[in-house]
Order: sequence, then structure tokens, then C-alpha cells
Amino acid sequence: MIPGLPRKLLAKIVKLEQPRTGALNRRVRGQCRFNFAGKIVARSGDALYRTFVAVKLTILGSGSAGNSAYLETDETRVLVDVGFSARQIRQRLASIGRAPENLTAILITHEHSDHVQGLAGIAEKLNIPVYCNRATQEEIQGQLQARIDYRLFATGGGFEIGDIAVETFSVPHDAQDPVGYLLRTCAVTFGFATDLGHVTTLVMERLRAANVVVLEANHDVKMLQDCLRRPWSLKQRILSRHGHLSNEAAAEAVAEFMSAELRHLYLGHLSRDCNRPDLAFGTVQSRLDKLNATQVQLELTTQNLPCPTLAL
Ligand SMILES: [Zn+2]
Ligand SMILES: [Zn+2]
Repeated sequence: MIPGLPRKLLAKIVKLEQPRTGALNRRVRGQCRFNFAGKIVARSGDALYRTFVAVKLTILGSGSAGNSAYLETDETRVLVDVGFSARQIRQRLASIGRAPENLTAILITHEHSDHVQGLAGIAEKLNIPVYCNRATQEEIQGQLQARIDYRLFATGGGFEIGDIAVETFSVPHDAQDPVGYLLRTCAVTFGFATDLGHVTTLVMERLRAANVVVLEANHDVKMLQDCLRRPWSLKQRILSRHGHLSNEAAAEAVAEFMSAELRHLYLGHLSRDCNRPDLAFGTVQSRLDKLNATQVQLELTTQNLPCPTLAL
């Protein structure tokens, strides 16, 4: 059986074979769907095979001024964070032919405004359920005073939204109770860790299970130290163990959670003043080269535009 598959999908699989793919002849290979590990997730004739469609991820934008990602499966459409105005979220979804009215749920990592800015305009107006922990909910309510349909979880716990199995994990960041997410779909697992001062053993363990990771590469340490637009106290906050990851720290983290199953790595939350895309990309790519991780496709995210949709 495939570990981590949502119960709903698991129930659809009557018999599952997982022979070594190399042993299959071409006719049989053509009847199969494979996951990243080369294992068969379904064969033609299975109910799962017939319902199997591409899982799609679009980072709508990421940076110090706003973060939001859209994930779509056969049955489920979720946003991870809503850090742009409702109007921006609507426009960015429209650019990929989607609308906020069709969202199944919204997942929130923490209450900072670059993650919840558009929450009232989307969730309250359209009555979309919002998943977060209690401490985050209390902070958001203090800021927004909106009538939102909250679905509270305990940090570290898991739950299902349609055909997505969600796991939550604590991250070290200066918010009330910030979390990262692992979202398991039928064949692909996504890891989100966008605001964290350092990478804990728990974070490494969780991200090691992912095929696609969105990881923060916030600043270049020298650019931050030299930056005239940041007061000393803010620099200290960003550099602290509950602040944000530097490019170098992101590269270190990648080395720690690297696995043969990791295929796509997005660098997120780049600071506009204290980082440059080429520095972030170069630092992490050279670490990937050292690790000989040729299976990993490295991508940059930007604040102003959605990334091209990743369909898997
Ligand atoms: Zn934050
Ligand atoms: Zn943030």
C-alpha cells in the first residue's frame, strides 16, 4: 500500500501491485500510473486510475510583502495563506483560469499580514472554511474582526480536506503558533515551510517526505547587515532563530532533507531589499550540484507574479 494516501483514495484501490518497474513490459507499463518513487499507484481498470488527474500547484506569489499558493487535485482546491489583497488573489487566480468561489478551503501558516491580508475579503465574503490553530485564530480575529468559518487543528495533528491529507508541524518563527504543512495527494506530497528562523529536526523530518518543497530563502546575510533601510532591531529579529532563513541556511536545510523523491524545490519569501534572485538561486543550486541532486528542479518565486503552474 502507499503510505500517506488519504483514506478516501485508499479505499478505491482494491488490489495494488508494486513490482519493480524495470521488470514490466511496455504494454503493462502503458497501463500504469507511477509515483515519483517509480511505484505503481494505479492500473487501468482501477477506479483510482479513471479518476486520476494531474495535481497542480501554482505559487500565486511569495515574498516579504505577500504569500499565497494554490493547490488543486481532482476533488479539492486549497490556498495555503492569503497574503495578498482579495482583489489580487482573485486576479492571480483568474490568470490561471480559476476563481476564489470554487475554493474548498484555506490553510493558514501564521497570522503575519503577509500571510493573511486577503483573508476577510475571500473567506468571510465567500464563506470558505479556514484551517488554522487556536492561537493563530485568536490573533487573526484581533486583527480582522471578521466572521470566518474556522476549522481549528492542534499543531502537529493531521486531517483531511477532500482527497488531500494534511499534516501540520511546528516551525520556529516569531508568531503565536506558526506551522508548516505537508499536503499528501494521490501521488505527490508537497511541503511548505516559508517562515522559519532555523530548521529543526522536526522540520527536516517532515520535508524529507515531500516530492515538492516550498522553502524560504529570505535574505543574503551580508546584504541584510549592510542594508540602510532596516533598523538594527529588525535586523536582529530577522537573523534570530525565530526570524527568517538566509540563502545559506536554506542551502544547509536542503542538504539535510534531501531525498531521492524530492523533484521540485521552490525558493520563497525572498526579501526585496536584502536579497537578489540570482544570489538565492546560485547559493542553493551550487549546494544541489555538490549533492549531485540532479533530479531536483530548482525554481524561484516572485512577489509580483504567479509562477508557472506545476502539473504532476
Ligand atoms: Zn511571518
Ligand atoms: Zn512571511
